[in-house]
Amino acid sequence: MRDFDCVVIGGGMLGCFTARELCRYQLSVALLERCSDVCTGISKANTAIVYSGYDTRPGTRKMQLCCRGNAGFAQLAQELDVPFDRCGSLMVCWGERGEAALRHKYRNGKENGVPGLRLISGEEAAELEPQLAPGIRLALLAPTTGTVNPYHLTIAAYENALANGCTALMNAEVHSIRKQDGGWLISTAEEQFRCRTVVNAAGLFADAIQAQIMPFSVRICPQRADYYLLDEQCRGLIRRIVFHQPEDGGKGLTLVPTHEGNLLLGPSEEPGSGDKEDFATSRSGLDWLDYWWPQVVPALPRRQVIRSFASLRPLLSFPGSVSGQVSGFELSPQFDPPDWVSFIGIKTPGMTCAAGLAQQAAEKICRFLGDPPRNSCFDPHRAAIPRLAALPMEQRQELIRRDPAFGRIVCQCRGVSEGEIIAAIRRGAATVNGVKRRVGATAGRCQGGFCLRRIVELIAREKGIPLTEVAWDEPGSEVLQGGSDA
Ligand SMILES: Cc1cc2nc3c(=O)[nH]c(=O)nc-3n(C[C@H](O)[C@H](O)[C@H](O)COP(=O)(O)OP(=O)(O)OC[C@H]3O[C@@H](n4cnc5c(N)ncnc54)[C@H](O)[C@@H]3O)c2cc1C
Repeated sequence: MRDFDCVVIGGGMLGCFTARELCRYQLSVALLERCSDVCTGISKANTAIVYSGYDTRPGTRKMQLCCRGNAGFAQLAQELDVPFDRCGSLMVCWGERGEAALRHKYRNGKENGVPGLRLISGEEAAELEPQLAPGIRLALLAPTTGTVNPYHLTIAAYENALANGCTALMNAEVHSIRKQDGGWLISTAEEQFRCRTVVNAAGLFADAIQAQIMPFSVRICPQRADYYLLDEQCRGLIRRIVFHQPEDGGKGLTLVPTHEGNLLLGPSEEPGSGDKEDFATSRSGLDWLDYWWPQVVPALPRRQVIRSFASLRPLLSFPGSVSGQVSGFELSPQFDPPDWVSFIGIKTPGMTCAAGLAQQAAEKICRFLGDPPRNSCFDPHRAAIPRLAALPMEQRQELIRRDPAFGRIVCQCRGVSEGEIIAAIRRGAATVNGVKRRVGATAGRCQGGFCLRRIVELIAREKGIPLTEVAWDEPGSEVLQGGSDA
């Protein structure tokens, strides 16, 4: 049995940021994650946008967190050594109703104090983004919108929490929680933990964790979001994040030029299958993307699609009420006992607000624990794995001189070296996707067609496991099948 001041359940974006934030205080903190790596839930696949805040209702907690999150994002990204592009966004419409919606969002944004927000003409918008379909009626320019890779951000927060003293356990699924001796008793299959406070950051499963202390209070019904990813050859075709406002008031297409040079298209809004682990794309969602794509960006070549993928939105439903009507941002503070914080149903803009949500959670936990002193050793900085392809030639040579593994390129599409992959594994990547999320190997045009074999060999060697045990993700997704690896 181990004792902690706080146990954080779930190693997604919100769990990792909260663990990091709690490490600013003299507290013992544990992070329990049911999978073999962090960032395998919602946070592994989102739209990668740091929102400016013009689209959130004035006066709400969500709006305050979003605007503050956006303003502080450059500093956060710099501390965590994560690339962040403040590329700006353009919301465009082609009709009268869209125009009314944009004017409403402009007024909203002004009320929320979003900096630099401007309504511009269709002609000006077409000059800024020439790939967009002709005839734009009006556009809303938000220069403070940005983009960040969600898994780089999550993993960076995790690594920083570890460096500042957090204890993290993978393959540690929480099965039961009981109140005991004024604290909590948390059980996984392997171990029990005693703690004084709990943070429920279990993402799509946060309702099951909450049900342990408040039966039948809330349910999460996943809603599917499908995406297309276009090759780096599209770099520069779209320079800002583009939001399309359709005439029917429904969901429009979003285009995101990622830091890596890909273009992200999506997300759709489709019913989920009910299975919280079903991250498969849906035919209807991809049809929706195929329908809007030629109407919004007709000249973008279809052959540049290198991948489709899906995420799941944690839609809330309450017994006797309508799904999706209550925001997780407003729900949690009213819901929880004083020694407990829950993140339930935190959808967009959860990433923009992650650091702010984590800060509020840590403040609540600290209030309950009698305001512990600050941890004077806390260091908010974390260094990323050196990215060979992004370095100037002299620095590459120096890196290779110090460690020749950086001179052996494994992923040809992204120029990722063996040294980077080994560093990713030694920092916690347990699977092929864990390597991808840390250093980008297999994320290029060939999607692992050429480099997968070598990555599997490196994982097996570094972890001392047979080749046949190396998986894409969780058990059951082993890359190789059949006999022994002899
Ligand atoms: C489609 C989509 C697009 C989005 N786009 C944006 C965007 O562009 N910008 C933005 O600001 N926000 C965006 N968001 C919001 C943001 O991505 C989420 O708010 C955030 O990722 C939620 O992270 P999380 O930590 O709550 O959940 P998760 O990432 O799912 O993490 C939960 C973790 O808990 C673990 N877990 C579950 N049960 C247990 C258990 N019993 N014991 C131990 N561990 C457990 C899981 O394995 C998982 O690792 C988007 C969200 C979605 C769904």
